Amino acid sequence: MVSLTFYGGVNEIGGNKILLEDDDVRVFFDFGQSFTMGCDYFGGWLNPRRVNGLEDYFEFGLLPKLEGLYAKDFLRFTKIPYVEPRFDAVFLSHAHFDHVSHIEFLDPEIPIYLGVGTKLFMEAMEKTSSFCDYRDHRYHGFRTGDRIKVGSLVVEPIHVDHSIPAAYGFIIHTSAGSVVYTGDLRAHGPRKDMTKGFTEMAHKCEPIAMICEGTRMVETERRKNHSEKQVKE
Ligand SMILES: [Zn+2]
Repeated sequence: MVSLTFYGGVNEIGGNKILLEDDDVRVFFDFGQSFTMGCDYFGGWLNPRRVNGLEDYFEFGLLPKLEGLYAKDFLRFTKIPYVEPRFDAVFLSHAHFDHVSHIEFLDPEIPIYLGVGTKLFMEAMEKTSSFCDYRDHRYHGFRTGDRIKVGSLVVEPIHVDHSIPAAYGFIIHTSAGSVVYTGDLRAHGPRKDMTKGFTEMAHKCEPIAMICEGTRMVETERRKNHSEKQVKE
């Protein structure tokens, strides 16, 4: 039995937290922060209180209350007991904050798989920003062509073109068939050939499901300066 649960990224742009379960294997794809996170309760200088760990995040429904997912120190003031990890891996599609930001709360024992270039971007963000700290995790870098085995799952990351380099889509081989997660991609950028390569491979595997954001899908582009090439010119 394969199931997908969306803890973010539905009816909104970004904030993707997609749980794929295949029997006893549980893997998250992306673990980002919504652009609108907490805006019903917080704003300006008023943010969830960091000293309380995840208490405010759970109280206001900003993160899913799941056992075996979060780091021990963040659970201190919450009603969720700390237990050993019950999740096998987290895969990150690219380094945009709406896809990676909340990994800081995760149990550092849960392996995080991400593009080699994605890791470089995240390190640069940590060095240059005072509010960016993803904390230590068991990071594993991947490149296109790798096939990563997590329990019975095999995950193939394939590069796509996006507004940040080192962005990937995934073909996830499950017991029920292939599931495709596109991550963020575009068809009009300078490396549209990579997006095309990914969609061709995704098509070939005859997926049973495809997970995709559709934030700007039009048949005919009417915006001006919509591509990096036009801006450069
Ligand atoms: Zn993005």
